Amino acid sequence: MTNLNITQDFIPQGRRNRPGQPNPMLWITIHETGNTSRGANARAHASYLGGNDAAAIPIAWHYTTDDRETIQHLPENETAFHAGDGANGIGNAQSIGIEMCINSDGNFSQTIDRTVALVADICRRRNIPIENIVPHNRWNGANCPRNIRAGNPINWNAFIGRVRAILGAGTPSQNTYKVVRGDTMTGIAQRFGVTLNALSAANPQITNIDRINVGQAINIPTGVATPRKTVEEVAQEIWRGQGDWGNDPQRKQRLIDYGGLEFRNAVQRRLNEIAAGR
Ligand SMILES: [Zn+2]
Repeated sequence: MTNLNITQDFIPQGRRNRPGQPNPMLWITIHETGNTSRGANARAHASYLGGNDAAAIPIAWHYTTDDRETIQHLPENETAFHAGDGANGIGNAQSIGIEMCINSDGNFSQTIDRTVALVADICRRRNIPIENIVPHNRWNGANCPRNIRAGNPINWNAFIGRVRAILGAGTPSQNTYKVVRGDTMTGIAQRFGVTLNALSAANPQITNIDRINVGQAINIPTGVATPRKTVEEVAQEIWRGQGDWGNDPQRKQRLIDYGGLEFRNAVQRRLNEIAAGR
């Protein structure tokens, strides 16, 4: 199997293209750099992202892959501007962005091999369902990743098929649930042990989560539906100094890693209530 060969070369904190917002990591967005110049490899893109031009736009993404290595530019749990769907767009605010190099002195097939291995690794670590690996095109209509969209040398379905082959039987997948009278998205999320963010992300057809209809099919992202502690259980653990939640600011990140931003916010609200004697 292809060696991931990841080097971390993070954009410094405080740069305009490192906003530092928490990323719930619900999607993976696949790009191509669009740069066929000789030498336009992962190293070249790392130095571009660290420079003033990229900061001025601002633009950044999480990983660049080429035929020899992968460079990570940002922590996965921070957002980046790469999807062209606005600061609060799902692509920018909720996905991990990967740029594949297409430099003419590189071997694009080997770049694809390394990207497939990276995507499978992220899916496994972050419990991202395979349905949530998407082309940049999904977010703003851009013709990206251009070569893969044109089937050169493999098309999108083949790319996803290769990720699925690595993940095998452990592939997170989605089930559906039919809405019954009295259901809310929040209630459904709680029942299946997923965050409201994850449930919303799995159902892009629902534009207003306050409007669901009896009989409507809701996708349940079972990949993230591992048994979870409730907000109340976690708040009580923290209040009693149990568990491995740490102190601020690491606790904030641990809670986001565990259940997403909404979960973290709910735990914080509950902690405030407990502290106030309620
Ligand atoms: Zn793109």
